[in-house]
Amino acid sequence: VVLVGNLIGEDHINYVLMYNMLTGIRIGVSRCQAKVKRPLTDEDFAARHKFSFDIVGNELTPSAKYDFKFKDYAPWVFRELREDYFHLDPADYLLSLTAKYILSELGSPGKSGSFFYFSRDYRFIIKTIHHSEHKFLLSILKDYHHHVKNNPHTLLSRFYGLHRVKLPRGRKIHFVIMNNLFPPHRDVHETFDLKGSTVGREYPEAKAATNPRAVLKDLNWINRGKMLELGPEKRALLTEQLRRDAEFLRKIYVMDYSLLIGIHKMERGNRDNVRRNTLKVFSPDIPMTRRATAVAKGGTSPEAIAMRRAMRESNLERLGHGRGALRLPEEDTGDRRDFLFYQDEGGLRATDEANDPLDKIYYLGVIDILTPYSTMKKLEHFWKGLSADRHKISPVEPGEYSDRFFSFMKAIMRGGGGGERFKAE
Ligand code: ATP
Ligand code: CA
Ligand code: CA
Repeated sequence: VVLVGNLIGEDHINYVLMYNMLTGIRIGVSRCQAKVKRPLTDEDFAARHKFSFDIVGNELTPSAKYDFKFKDYAPWVFRELREDYFHLDPADYLLSLTAKYILSELGSPGKSGSFFYFSRDYRFIIKTIHHSEHKFLLSILKDYHHHVKNNPHTLLSRFYGLHRVKLPRGRKIHFVIMNNLFPPHRDVHETFDLKGSTVGREYPEAKAATNPRAVLKDLNWINRGKMLELGPEKRALLTEQLRRDAEFLRKIYVMDYSLLIGIHKMERGNRDNVRRNTLKVFSPDIPMTRRATAVAKGGTSPEAIAMRRAMRESNLERLGHGRGALRLPEEDTGDRRDFLFYQDEGGLRATDEANDPLDKIYYLGVIDILTPYSTMKKLEHFWKGLSADRHKISPVEPGEYSDRFFSFMKAIMRGGGGGERFKAE
């Protein structure tokens, strides 16, 4: 799969921000990574590591192109999450996120105003988040860690890191790094974002006909009579995990999350190249500390290995394919095989009632899980409730949201377009 994108230059409005985010990650994450692993303490959940970058540089931080500050939140906690529960290879992680030719930007940000960037190998997403979401994630980090530890197959967003960049004039940008549910090596032919709410949850079908990248919603799913084709075995496993995850979301008192489902149709394969020409490629010169460069030359630490690979690859890229071209793997790299719901080509293969495989792969997970039921959301509940069924609108109290979400997901798995009974009267 070759992706062709536009190279983001220094004149791009988000160039400086991206440069700072990646420089911060490289220095911050590799600093923590270079230390010997130890068990977590309570203090680790409240820890913040600060870095100050400027164009001069110093002993600890290399000189950077711009002045900015970087904060790494609970680095040891995220390191444990990445390595012990999400089974990420430390060298791979650093390399993917900060090698040259890195980020692509989604066409337009979500309603919330968040920006999404994909790592160059399409495995990771950087999402800028609102300060309230940032504070919220920190406040539930312990519960999240606990849930992930006890649910190795959780469908919840995998958070790999939480960071902040502060620009000279004081603007603060918070962001998380998380898993891309969609695989690098397979086209996703249909995408659904399902909440279990049926008021206003429809992407115009007329527009969908000409846009293969449309993110469809609950009513599209119902009206198209879709179902998740899973045999009894996978259905039972998925239902149980969704039950536990929904229970957790109820407990931390959030709402507005959704089940994101990407469908790959095997008979169509990759020939449509759905992702082509949608990317913007970013290729910054991320600085390295003098020590890091020295380490990279001979060291055996994950940091050093990652950096050597990054240097090698960026050299290859300069020689090889043209500007802005990204080559993604054609085959499953196997990096998700530890996870029950991501082990068939990075996803979940559809099965029939005899548990035999069908020609479809689902890529699914629960996303956007950082919205607590705030005063704003209560007001939204009130206003939307005036003109529509109070129980079918998207903002409802987290207990009700969780029940409705789980019922909907159970219903769409039962087959025959089970979502029917959720249809607005
Ligand atoms: P809003 O609050 O308005 O829903 P948001 O900015 O919080 O928007 P999300 O709901 O997190 O954004 O995501 C928006 C879209 O981005 C999703 O519908 C999905 O298409 C894509 N997306 C988000 N997270 C992932 C992920 N982990 N993997 C793949 N795609 C994702
Ligand atoms: Ca959302
Ligand atoms: Ca959101």
